[in-house]
Amino acid sequence: MKNTDKKIAVFSNYKPQSKEVCQLLIKKLRQNRFILTDKNPDIVISVGGDGMLLSVFHKYENQLDKVRFVGVHTGHLGFYTDYRDFEIDKLIENLKLDTGAQVSYPILNVRIFLEDGSVKSKLALNEATIKRSDRTMVADVMINHVAFERFRGDGISVSTPTGSTAYNKSLGGAVLHPTIEALQIAEVASLNNRVYRTLGSSIIVPKKDKIEIFPTRNDQHTISVDNRTYTFKHIAKVEFQIDNHKIQFVASPSHTSFWNRVKDAFIGEVDDEI
Ligand code: NAP
Ligand code: MN
Repeated sequence: MKNTDKKIAVFSNYKPQSKEVCQLLIKKLRQNRFILTDKNPDIVISVGGDGMLLSVFHKYENQLDKVRFVGVHTGHLGFYTDYRDFEIDKLIENLKLDTGAQVSYPILNVRIFLEDGSVKSKLALNEATIKRSDRTMVADVMINHVAFERFRGDGISVSTPTGSTAYNKSLGGAVLHPTIEALQIAEVASLNNRVYRTLGSSIIVPKKDKIEIFPTRNDQHTISVDNRTYTFKHIAKVEFQIDNHKIQFVASPSHTSFWNRVKDAFIGEVDDEI
């Protein structure tokens, strides 16, 4: 495919710095005769942070087979961003040389079964978290058809490998390398005493295993999927599984390793003077 046949969509967040980078990027893409369009693009470029990439992922979540993403981060390095704002020329060069190669990561499929028989389906790039709207959530957790535990607490989060560094990490979950196709269940403030018991640690579940959560107090629950929150009444159960689709990123010759991203985000430079 020649550049002139390659359709590219560019989005940025509201930050002036991101908008500026976005304008410059658009100008350079035009100069190099790429087609700029939001409609059925081959490549979607997100300018901003990981939060912005989450937004554009959901915008094109029905076209995951066709679309490849590129993340440009204004500021520090992100988990879904391969380029920094000062690397626009490098990005253009790589797009010109692009052969269609991609790096892909697992995503999460969440299905919400309501008591009236209807089923809602959502995709998550980071995680889905179920909480009871008010009061303590009580829910039975089933892993691969084993009635595992009765959970009492604020809620339960199920994250993807790339989402493991987001909310999951704040919940004390492990950081998972994205080549490990697994989901992670993390507890949100579980109640543990002589009467109530949950495992306490987070659990890493392999690709084929299904996670099911059955809320027992069936009034109103919220389910947060990445950056959006939905409210449901009368949920019968919620199912979590790795989706058949993956998110694809344009492979970059200087693709930053996952451990470099983890180090850059959470550790920074190590001072060896001390
Ligand atoms: P936000 O509340 O504006 O920002 C959440 C922060 O998480 C941002 O700094 C974002 O990075 C970062 N982030 C997003 N995905 C990440 C990932 N995969 N690994 C490491 N850091 C990541 O919300 P948002 O930007 O719309 O993002 C929604 C996400 O926020 C949710 O999916 C959830 O994971 C996370 N969240 C975390 C907590 C918590 O830690 N207590 C609570 C609620 C939600 P950028 O600055 O690069 O955008
Ligand atoms: Mn940020």
